[in-house]
This record gives sequence, C-alpha cells and structure tokens, in this order.
Amino acid sequence: MAVINSIADRQEEMRGWRHLMHQHPEISYEEVWTSNFIAEKLTSFGIEVRRGMGKTGVVGVLRGNGRSDAAIGLRADMDALPMQEMNTFAHKSETPGRMHACGHDGHCTMLLGAAQYLAETRNFDGTVYFVFQPAEEGGCGGEAMIKDGLFDKFQMRSIWGMHNWPGMDVGKVGVHDGACMAAADMFEIQLTGIGGHAAMPDMGIDPIPCGAALVQSLQTIVSRRVPPLQPAVVSVTIFEAGSALNVIPDTVRLGGTARSFSPEIRSLLQTAIQDVAESTAKAYGCKIAFEWEPGYPPTINHAESAARATAIASHIVGADNIIANPEPSMGAEDFAFMLAEKPGAYIWLGAGPAKEGAMLHNANYDFNDELLATGASYWAQLVESELPK
Ligand SMILES: [Zn+2]
Ligand SMILES: [Zn+2]
Repeated sequence: MAVINSIADRQEEMRGWRHLMHQHPEISYEEVWTSNFIAEKLTSFGIEVRRGMGKTGVVGVLRGNGRSDAAIGLRADMDALPMQEMNTFAHKSETPGRMHACGHDGHCTMLLGAAQYLAETRNFDGTVYFVFQPAEEGGCGGEAMIKDGLFDKFQMRSIWGMHNWPGMDVGKVGVHDGACMAAADMFEIQLTGIGGHAAMPDMGIDPIPCGAALVQSLQTIVSRRVPPLQPAVVSVTIFEAGSALNVIPDTVRLGGTARSFSPEIRSLLQTAIQDVAESTAKAYGCKIAFEWEPGYPPTINHAESAARATAIASHIVGADNIIANPEPSMGAEDFAFMLAEKPGAYIWLGAGPAKEGAMLHNANYDFNDELLATGASYWAQLVESELPK
C-alpha cells in the first residue's frame, strides 16, 4: 500500500487520538468534548478554526501555497450512538449508554491526520476546508451546517466523504459512480377505535386487527406496487398497543421507515403508505392520524468526482483493490445533503471481516485502526490532486 510515509509514521499518534475519542462518545448535537478536542488539535496544527455551524460543527480552514482561489471540502462525522458498549478493552466508552459504534471516532481521526500533514507540507494551491459535522446518526447535522451557511461562508467547489465499511476487506476501497446509500423517510400512524371489555368486542371498535391488517398490507407495497427491478424497503418497526389482557385498547401506534433510491419510488412509497393506511383504517372503522417525516435524501456520488476518487484511492491501495460500484446500501447517510448541493464523492473504506459479527452499530464493534493511515493518506492525496500547485 502506498500510504504517505510521514502519515504512516504517525500511526501511533493517530491511534491515541482515536482511542481518546472512543472513550468520549457524544450523541447528536452534544459533541462538546469532541468538537473541543478537534478544534484544539486543528489549532495546534496552525489551522484556522470556525465553530458554531450546526451547533457543534467545526470547520478548519487551511490555505496552501500559491494564489489560487479554488477550494474543496473534506467531511467527517463526529457523533456516537445512544447505546451501551459491550467491549472491555482499555479504550472502551467511559460514558454509560453512549458508544462510538459507527466508527466516527476513526473518521475524525483520519481527517485530523490529513489536516496535520497538509498543514505541515502545504503542497497544494488553494483552500481546504475540514468539515467536522455533528449529528450524522439521524439528526441531519450535515443539513444543519448547510442551513447555517456552510457553503455560503466557505465557497468550496466540491465536497468529499468516506465511511469505514466492515464486511469489505481491509485494503479495498468501494466507489460508486452514482447512488450509494438510500433515502430514508419515516412514518408514524395512530389508529383510534373504541376500547372496551375484551369479552365484548362488538361493543367497541378494536384497533388491533386493523393495525395487524395494516402491517400486512404495507408489506404488499414493495412486492406489488414498486417495479420489481427498483430497490425499496418498507419496514414497520414500532407496534404499540394495549396494557391489559382483558381490555381492548383505544389506540394502536405504529411506525417505521421507507427506503428508496429514485425520487419516483420515494414519492410512490409515501403515497402508497398513506393510501394503504387510510383505506385500512376506513375498512375497520378506525380513525387515523398519519405523519410522514422526510429524512435523508439518497446519497448520490457525482460520476466525475467518483472517477477522481477512484484514481486517488488506486494510488494508495492499488487499482486491483478498487471495488467499482459495490451493491449500494439501503442504509442512509447525512452526507447526502452535502452531495445534493455540491459535486463530490463518498467512498467506502474496507474495514475487514466484522469480528464476531460486530458490524456497524453493534455493541461489540470497534473502528479498525489499520485504516487510519490509509484514510488520512487518501484525504491528503485528494487535496494535493484536486488543488495542484
Ligand atoms: Zn451509523
Ligand atoms: Zn456512520
């Protein structure tokens, strides 16, 4: 692997930052310790720091040698998850109920490693913005930074992202030339009947059979309404009703998520879910409250940027180790908001076989430190290539 030597030499230092961040996980918009740590590191490298965008977001601003006004952005995510870590190693989470189970500690470290190298070498002409965003895990932190003027205050022509990818071998890099992660929308439904004695169902309107029928009917949307070659998921993840074995409840609450890639299928899912929910409620005599919460749009790489990302990654891991267009994920990614505004690409960094099934978001997951030098080298070479001297 052709990682940058001076970055590889700092492997231990980077590992130290990563472990420290792993010990201090903070969830969406609470990344106070984390953003302070990042800001202090950037400042110590001689990089100008701007804060407060997207509440806890941090942007490092580094100008290279020369007069070019070209600029690019590199983005990492800072937040952890509200879950209990089961690992017992020395750098395990020190905060109960909080865990870096998606490797964002590693993402921040790789970007800091690149920032340190680039601040020392400045072997580029233009400006690089190091964008550390909050709240990737469902909190729309990327969108919040954009709303706070990320792309107005910092005029960058492109934006770049990466995610560690357990299940893909270490040393492999996956690059999509189009869609790589799905759109993720949420729905919540409340069905209201008339509760009463479980022995006298005819005296009320039981919302439970209605809810059960609705769950079944929702499953026909993907199988019967979505064209067979179009990816889509409808998952009901919440079904709450009742409190006693002999009482028919008044209400059933259910909800879930819809995943898709194309705008057409996304809007089809919304219309169909609402339509099925309202018709089923009517058929069973229940009242319905329906809420649709649009979430992350699909993450779609720009083909030209993907080609450039592929060239840079090939340099580091070898052309044979690039996986072009791996099967996209139905998971979603907040970086989608940034790619919807600016050209760029989001790559997957192979993180190796998940130990004992500890994939992303597993309580036994840990970021693979073997990737630190590779990821940091990718960032550094991307800057030197996109902003040549
Ligand atoms: Zn995650
Ligand atoms: Zn993640």
